[in-house]
Amino acid sequence: MKQPKITLKKGKEKVINNRHPWIFSGAIESFPDNFKKGEIYPIVSFDQKLLGYGYFNSSLSLAGRIVSFGEKDPWETIYRHIDTAIALRDLFFSHKQTNAYRLINGEGDHLPGLILDQYGEYLVLQSSTLGADKMNEKLLAYLVSKKKWKAIFEKSTSSSRKEEKLEDKTRVLWGEDVEEIAILENGLKFFIDWKTGQKTGFFLDQREMRQLVKELSLNRTVLNCFSYTGGFSVYALAGGAREVTSVDSSLAALNMARKNLKANAFEEEQSPLIDADVFEYLRNDPLKYDLIILDPPAFVKKKKDLHQAIKGYREINAQVLKKAPSGSFLLTCSCSHYIDEPLFRTIIFQAAQNAHRDVQIIKEAFHSIDHPTSIFHPESRYLKNILLYLP
Ligand code: SAH
Repeated sequence: MKQPKITLKKGKEKVINNRHPWIFSGAIESFPDNFKKGEIYPIVSFDQKLLGYGYFNSSLSLAGRIVSFGEKDPWETIYRHIDTAIALRDLFFSHKQTNAYRLINGEGDHLPGLILDQYGEYLVLQSSTLGADKMNEKLLAYLVSKKKWKAIFEKSTSSSRKEEKLEDKTRVLWGEDVEEIAILENGLKFFIDWKTGQKTGFFLDQREMRQLVKELSLNRTVLNCFSYTGGFSVYALAGGAREVTSVDSSLAALNMARKNLKANAFEEEQSPLIDADVFEYLRNDPLKYDLIILDPPAFVKKKKDLHQAIKGYREINAQVLKKAPSGSFLLTCSCSHYIDEPLFRTIIFQAAQNAHRDVQIIKEAFHSIDHPTSIFHPESRYLKNILLYLP
């Protein structure tokens, strides 16, 4: 009997030989009879050489994602990738001051479409593709066999699910539900609302920038824009900031920030929480702060919105550069996938030009250590941080 498989066009095996995990529809010669979207199939070259295994959605231009390269059984490889990902985090976070981190970072850990965040003894899984959805049952059984968890939740709400015509899912996969999870990060306490929070509840990718802010905060007056649940604010106060103002337009986020400040024994008088639009705030406030953080949500989620997004980044940065006092720092960030590192630097350059301000780059940084990316898959890089000094 003919084994079902995906056959690539002549010459297209090159992509796989480069270990890039994505296969676009133009590279596919044929799907098998009775092809099922999201199932794992062997992938063969035009001359029938087995190249690896992957899952496919024939309706999409990004039609396939490879789960294992070479001839080995795909599940053997998937389990090995999970073990490797967990071992790497055990290595990074053995000090126990931090018990919340990304355990599996999708393509960056060779598990396409799958994110798994660990919050203490809880896991929150995020699947962004049909193929990852279909892998979840076996993954779950494996994870439960590996370690003792209190519960495993699913928060699959990423925008790419819409393209795959998948419903969002927010549910308990295993164990008992909890409303909030308490975590420790660099010895500081935070509450995570995994159900209604952004992403899986916390911006784990910015841990190292929070630590940097802590180191810069002694005796400074800090403004934390787009403060969400107060991550940067708590760190700034822990670093000895005189006062930290947090600005966000979500009341739920500000309420959680209040709770997080209190959990770390910081007084509300020292840390005002302001419900406002950051664009308005930056236009109207004199910005007499000597450390300002701009860590906005992704302004561009679709390529067609790129121009508008660039204007947005330029405006908020120019406002700070125009008004912040001499001797201040600006930590400016972008998590927009469509804005790459050189473009982000250009936007800051233009903002400095608009503001007629001399600006020194002190540091450029990317995702925290628990967000590895594959050298063969630059598409999974999204976060850019630049620390500026304003002489
Ligand atoms: N800096 C945060 C993460 C930012 S998430 C951290 O380190 O945890 C983005 C936040 O921006 C959300 O809390 C959202 O409510 C807020 N937000 C989005 N647009 C906004 C706007 N125009 N003005 C104020 N807050 C905004």
